[in-house]
Amino acid sequence: MAQILTQKDNKKSEDTASREAPERAHPLSNVRNIGIVAHIDAGKTTTTERMLFYAGKLHKMGEVHDGTAVMDWMAQEKERGITITSAATTCIWNDHQVNIIDTPGHVDFTVEVERSLRVLDSAVGVFCGVGGVQPQSETVWHQADKYGVPRIAFVNKMDRVGADFENVVEEMRERLGANAVPIQVPWGCEDSFQGVVDLVKMRAYNFDSDTLGAEVVECDVPAELGAVAEKARSVLIEKLAEADEAVLEAYLANPDIEADLLMAGIRRAVLSNTIVPVLCGSSLKNKGVQQVLDAVIDYLPSPLDVASIEGIVPKTGELTTRQADDFGPAAALIFKIANDSYVGRLAYVRIYSGKLKKGQQVLNPRTKKRERIQRLIVLHADTRTDVDVLYSGEIGAVTGLREASTGDTICIDNHPVELERIKFPEPVMFVAVEPKTRADKDKLQAALVALQAEDPTCIIREDADTGQTIMSGMGELHLEILRDRMVREFNVESVSGSPMVAYYETVTAVATGEHTFDREIGGKKQFASVSVEVGPTERGSGTRIEIEAREGKIPAAFRSSVEQGIQDGIYTGVILRYPMTDMIVKVTGGSFDSEFSTDAAFRTAAVMAFREAVASAAAELLEPLMELEIITPSDFMGDVMGDLNSRRGKVKDITARGANQIIRARVPLAELFGYSTAVRSLSRGRAMYTIEPEKFEIVPGNIREQLLNR
Ligand code: GDP
Ligand code: MG
Repeated sequence: MAQILTQKDNKKSEDTASREAPERAHPLSNVRNIGIVAHIDAGKTTTTERMLFYAGKLHKMGEVHDGTAVMDWMAQEKERGITITSAATTCIWNDHQVNIIDTPGHVDFTVEVERSLRVLDSAVGVFCGVGGVQPQSETVWHQADKYGVPRIAFVNKMDRVGADFENVVEEMRERLGANAVPIQVPWGCEDSFQGVVDLVKMRAYNFDSDTLGAEVVECDVPAELGAVAEKARSVLIEKLAEADEAVLEAYLANPDIEADLLMAGIRRAVLSNTIVPVLCGSSLKNKGVQQVLDAVIDYLPSPLDVASIEGIVPKTGELTTRQADDFGPAAALIFKIANDSYVGRLAYVRIYSGKLKKGQQVLNPRTKKRERIQRLIVLHADTRTDVDVLYSGEIGAVTGLREASTGDTICIDNHPVELERIKFPEPVMFVAVEPKTRADKDKLQAALVALQAEDPTCIIREDADTGQTIMSGMGELHLEILRDRMVREFNVESVSGSPMVAYYETVTAVATGEHTFDREIGGKKQFASVSVEVGPTERGSGTRIEIEAREGKIPAAFRSSVEQGIQDGIYTGVILRYPMTDMIVKVTGGSFDSEFSTDAAFRTAAVMAFREAVASAAAELLEPLMELEIITPSDFMGDVMGDLNSRRGKVKDITARGANQIIRARVPLAELFGYSTAVRSLSRGRAMYTIEPEKFEIVPGNIREQLLNR
């Protein structure tokens, strides 16, 4: 997405006014689209809840642990106390419209994070004051780096025993490579944590517990914190002076810089992604959340501050852009599809340009169909408000789009554009699913189709050999939840086998193949000949098909059949019939017969030629490797390491944190079944771990033998 404009001053020029509809409730410069990203349990949901509460959207505070948190609205989320679907919600803070997406931290749902980052302008990273930079926060952080998303950080749980603000800041620098700069210091810690000192204004804040922290009390910096705060402030100014010329100049003139100048400098540095301001607090204890909202407004970009988004003009393939402009041609990106029991199919959209109106016809360039917008909805977790118009820069949901799926663009007819699609990771696990009873059969099919449209990391396919329906996803929990949703949302019972590792196949050498199809079928001769060359490409690049054969060899009319044949081949590899990936397939030649050539003959010739080429291209199996992080008391290190060895694990590094050791290792997913039980018994329940997909690699020879003989 969106790189951030590094404009030197924070001007609001006249031309932005001409890009705003006068009837908008909030000018574009007062809109913030933020994501809240973190490791699971760092407190994203609690923090979001508090934001909504203080902004006056919630009348009662919900708590995650008793299942009343409003943002976690799916039944499964309430039961499991985790966030699965990212819910979009809007609140108003200091006359600014803040659109928040609460993204899940569990790695099985990285896709949710990925698509949120794509449509948001900035993010708040929430870290646990005790746990610090945990592996999933690292993943999410790097995802945000990839999209160039400006961030602020919130070190939460300062009330917990073992909370250490400085340490978390240090970890952000070391492990995330972030230029993390505190703009607050904590007032007290653990039991005695009571508020924050703002280093910009040099004022202290604490929070009235009778009003659940809604009443903020401003006071002088307490004497005992004076020296600490002064020192932290000078670090902040130094870091800013490094990043920002205006601050440097002001500093040289007078080292005690005014708050306004400092704030403007922080804003510029955040927008250009050179610093990450760090705040602290305790969401659960209602401390410091309002300051996070203030920082969102003061330091994070509005849609006007981000560069325009790129897209393609469907007919010509020309590159084009769209910018936040209510009078521009309407273009919006669908970043999520959800089925809602009340309003039906909801498409969550970010409006990039123009506005969407209720009742309007929009074009979906992928399906080339026009559909009518029935309702426009602004979401607040599980309640919703109908609106007549969604303006550029806003986030909301649309009903009435029956054929749209995640990643699609909707736009105005006479200015078609296809905005950059969202890239999703490959599934690493699958199960075979079957209807429980005959009556469930059709319903199951419908449920699978709907789930797949909603969730791009849920992939459904039919096994050509067994006729079984295969559902792939991002992990055991993901697959389990998909099955659970079938029962709850679609009312179908299914039985499934045990989850299996999703292997792929690839080639490691260049080879060619040729096949001539020349047979009589039903008394009629059919003819086609195809030559193919296959070769390896970079890991993670997918497959690419290029048809180089000239018109005289393979006429244009048969090209899609040839491509279809190659796809058939890619779909089922030659070793264990797993899908193939990371290869380039060139159709180099062929021949036809103007009388006897048919589509079926070309499709068959292509798949046979492809298989022949693959057979001599040193095909290999690929397996998913996971990054595993284990935190264990030192006493159990030896046993945990021994166990990792037996699982083909490669240790990357070991670091000490207090009485614990943190082991980071790369382990094949195939070796991780039953790992939770193993770790529990090895460490008497004291070790914790997290797993996330890292990459695919070639399966070693001996393991390949075992798989072949399975
Ligand atoms: P998420 O997984 O990041 O959405 O985290 P949640 O908001 O669900 O919080 C995880 C757990 O930590 C819940 O039991 C919260 O009550 C608890 N929690 C959240 N914030 C704080 C905090 O500031 N202090 C303490 N002590 N616990 C917190
Ligand atoms: Mg949550």
